[in-house]
Amino acid sequence: MSYSEHTRGIYQQRLNDIREAGLFKQERFIHSPQAADIEVEFPSGADLKKVINVCANNYLGLSSHPEVVKAAHEGLDTRGYGMSSVRFICGTQDIHRELEKVVTDFLGTEDTILFPSCMDANAGVFEAILTKDDIMISDRLVHASIVDGMRLCNAEHDTYKHGDMEHLEKKLQQFQDKRLRVIINDGVYSMDGDTAKLDEVVRLAEAYDALVFVDDSHASGFIGKTGRGTHEKCGVVGKMDIITTTFGKALGGASGGCVSGRKEIVEMCRQRARPYLFSNAMAPVIISGVLKAFEILKRSTELRDKLEENAHYWRRGLTEAGFILKKGDTPIVPVMLFNAKLSQDFSRDLYGEGIYAIGFFFPVVAKGQARIRTQLSAGHEKHHLDKALEAFSKIGKKYQILGKTEEEIVSMYGL
Ligand SMILES: *Cc1c(COP(=O)(O)O)cnc(C)c1O
Repeated sequence: MSYSEHTRGIYQQRLNDIREAGLFKQERFIHSPQAADIEVEFPSGADLKKVINVCANNYLGLSSHPEVVKAAHEGLDTRGYGMSSVRFICGTQDIHRELEKVVTDFLGTEDTILFPSCMDANAGVFEAILTKDDIMISDRLVHASIVDGMRLCNAEHDTYKHGDMEHLEKKLQQFQDKRLRVIINDGVYSMDGDTAKLDEVVRLAEAYDALVFVDDSHASGFIGKTGRGTHEKCGVVGKMDIITTTFGKALGGASGGCVSGRKEIVEMCRQRARPYLFSNAMAPVIISGVLKAFEILKRSTELRDKLEENAHYWRRGLTEAGFILKKGDTPIVPVMLFNAKLSQDFSRDLYGEGIYAIGFFFPVVAKGQARIRTQLSAGHEKHHLDKALEAFSKIGKKYQILGKTEEEIVSMYGL
């Protein structure tokens, strides 16, 4: 027998270990489109419950936007369902190239190459452009997909302390003998909602002859005055050598990603990036939806402005209620609870009040840093936010944490 009882036992034991460590993730089933109001089955088999979603990456509310849905239908009708090919064999339609041009124009780069996802973009880009004579210097908190991409590349790797420019400068000095240096950052860090200091990163890159890489998955479409991303916010549009981003968050929320940047780097990815060469082309229906998302963004800044307003309103409301928030000015607003079990109980009670928000704890965040990560959307109306604020206050009172300091909460609940 190939899958013997012994083999089964090994996996059952590992799964039990995960359960006992309190790290087992249970999925909730959503029976409606992704939006501010969703219908959820949880736990499995329970009656459907209408809840307000405050933990989606649906920043601009485009996931179920009628214009995006209509454009996707049109894409389906005019370009079919699937490509049945990778890009370089027979998987490139006119609209794939059109989207690459639109992204290039929007991000202010030289060229763009699409990938099935941003995870794939990050998995492919480093190996495609670097050799063992090069060095990748990454911020210590970069996204898991970047970590995996760096693992697949035989360039040397080192890290700098999160957001610490002095430490980054030391590392750049240390590696001056390398052929190429790449400074690797997320634009917005998704767990804390803080932003890379790309202006300072660019200054160091110019001083020490390094390339700048930024993954702007949690920024493209809404950070910066016209939503171009963290480089716009930091005033360094045109100075990014490599931007990776996703279409699975603000930009329609379906899937797909890209590498955008210097044209030789994009061309190297077309020749060498393995997830590009060996995985299917993005489906036409998604390309059409993403094209419409960009058209909506270029028409006006209304959605990102509304998102910004919602984020301010939400931060102010939670702060006045007496919660401890991670500081920041992005639509990612972590409500700090410190204790892992408290974050789970808090999330469960919120759900009881009709609010869907998930607790994060070790190993997703550091030990003693458990939180409910809330994310705002342009799809939220004031009444959604008011109802959610009321629920947070009610549960906060129940656990007696309102107006308390971190020390006080930790002394009540432990780490
Ligand atoms: C979500 C995310 C990704 C993965 O994007 P997909 O397109 O879903 O693969 C990559 N990097 C960062 C920083 C992300 O937040």
